[in-house]
Amino acid sequence: MDIRIGYGFDSHAFKPGVPLKIGGLIIDHPEGLAGHSDGDVLLHAITDALLGAVSAGDIGSFFPPEDPRWKGADSSVFLNLAMEEIQNAGFRIVNVDTTLVLNAPRIGPIAAEMREKVADLLCVVPSNVGIKAKTPEGLNVDHVAQAHAVVLLERIEDPGELQTMSAVMESQRQLEDVVRDLVNQVQGVGVKSPFDTDDIT
Ligand code: MG
Repeated sequence: MDIRIGYGFDSHAFKPGVPLKIGGLIIDHPEGLAGHSDGDVLLHAITDALLGAVSAGDIGSFFPPEDPRWKGADSSVFLNLAMEEIQNAGFRIVNVDTTLVLNAPRIGPIAAEMREKVADLLCVVPSNVGIKAKTPEGLNVDHVAQAHAVVLLERIEDPGELQTMSAVMESQRQLEDVVRDLVNQVQGVGVKSPFDTDDIT
């Protein structure tokens, strides 16, 4: 069996006045994560793990933080590109395991919901996604969220499956476009993103 392993890491500082988004979930918390994008530290780590597994570079090489197109971007955009990269390389996800390191909020009560959200974004079943969390004991990084991710990939043997995956990802992309258009209509185009900082992705 042709398999690959990938590892990703990311960290973002907490910052008042922005929504907290981790694993694609908006979490009720007094502070969010600073970032050029939406600061989703977990999706960034998974994106790097996927890219690393097929030697396709890292998130910064595809989405340079100085590029204004990614200001306030939904990090699922980064994840989708990484999924396309592994698919183009002829691989699919077997499973993903992750560890978040942060003092607050507590992830345990929302881990199941986060697992379902991440699984949905990765087009896998929730039983193939691990979401774990620890506090940063002794690390002296109380105001930071860190994420570690490992992925296992296997080569797709059936060309028909490759086409099916492409169709699923395309329909997901179309759905995202519709939602984005609706949000723009409701909010008005050109509204400043709540994740408006100059920090890196
Ligand atoms: Mg990041």
